[in-house]
Amino acid sequence: RQRHKVAVIGSGNWGTTVAKLVAENTKAHPDLFEEDVQISPVINTYHENVKYLPKIALPPNVVANPSLLDAVKDSSILIFNLPHEFIGNVCRQIKGHILPSARGISCIKGVTVTEDKVELICEYIGETLGIYCGALSGANIANEIANELWCETTIAYNTPPCDRRSENGTNGDAAHRDARGQVSKIDLVPVPQEYPPVDHTALHKLFDRPYFTVSMVSDVVGVSLAGALKNIVALACGFIEGHGWNMTAKTAVMRRGMLETIHFCQEFFPETIQEMTFWESAGWSDMIVSCTSARNWRYSKMAAERGVSLYEIERTELNGQKLQGISTTKEVMSFLKARGVADKYPLFKAVEGIVDGTFEVKNIPVLFRQ
Ligand code: NAD
Ligand code: 13P
Repeated sequence: RQRHKVAVIGSGNWGTTVAKLVAENTKAHPDLFEEDVQISPVINTYHENVKYLPKIALPPNVVANPSLLDAVKDSSILIFNLPHEFIGNVCRQIKGHILPSARGISCIKGVTVTEDKVELICEYIGETLGIYCGALSGANIANEIANELWCETTIAYNTPPCDRRSENGTNGDAAHRDARGQVSKIDLVPVPQEYPPVDHTALHKLFDRPYFTVSMVSDVVGVSLAGALKNIVALACGFIEGHGWNMTAKTAVMRRGMLETIHFCQEFFPETIQEMTFWESAGWSDMIVSCTSARNWRYSKMAAERGVSLYEIERTELNGQKLQGISTTKEVMSFLKARGVADKYPLFKAVEGIVDGTFEVKNIPVLFRQ
């Protein structure tokens, strides 16, 4: 029987951490997975990512592969983990060079916006590459997990009907549906019978660690959009704190941010959103951690304290890492404006104004009186 070969695409702070934990699991489950996990583009030969995850020893079965195409070409499970700005370029490069039956998991927090359409990153990957791709998102600080400090996460995966195994083969007749509940346009190639099924059980085995508790759900919309939109709220919280307000003000902003997030999901993905998802790690937990200890919060606070733009802080302080909140705010607002509904999302709109220098942080409380 064949075993799954796993590749991690993206070797930043989170990409490298996920490669480490997944490599521990491929070694622990030799019946399902080949031991070596390819990671692309690079870590160094000393099994440490000195730029994005210094001082963390990576297991020997994390194999650095400087060639993206080589890393993905025989891999049956692809883990996408890089800042969302770069996913289009990566998909264009690997399109046509992957196994047609490969399955993906996106650990990316962001959205893609084309004209007046908003798309989940996992769906963008799936549609561009012609595969099914789920999403992993949660209250996860890479450095803590790399140091094996316990936390939990959420994986959303809707095992496609063609992959559901019955005693006589696959149950391939039922239609696979996309994030809007429509019959999917992708002509999926099933995971071959010689491979173990890619389902909740297998993915749990691939990602769950004693220090990383995984919950499996099927709501890719809730998991993806909660993970993307909380970065806008985290910027707001950093601005609030940098301005001199404290935790009580931040909780008001978090609450309002979560309401706008849920409203966004209900407005644009009403067929599939499940509100209980906001009680998963990908929901409220990620909102809280992102607004109190993650990079989008930390550096927006710094920008407000120093009175400089967030763009400048990203350029001077982040050593190549990205603040996903900046582009997510821009993308979400351009979509909402194209739809003519920007005023229904006053907090998101205010964050765009602060980033652009057209709205003052001191006016945030006014939004709560409208
Ligand atoms: P990062 O902020 O460390 O950025 C570095 C990554 O960006 C590297 O993979 C690098 O190769 C890539 N990169 C930089 N410039 C590039 C370019 N021009 N073209 C292509 N790639 C380029 O990235 P990260 O922290 O690993 O974040 C990846 C995703 O994971 C993001 O969507 C983030 O929101 C999410 N995430 C991060 C954390 C965390 O704690 N770091 C936790 C959960 C989720
Ligand atoms: P930052 O990118 O702001 O560090 O957020 C990490 C994260 O997603 C926390 O769950």
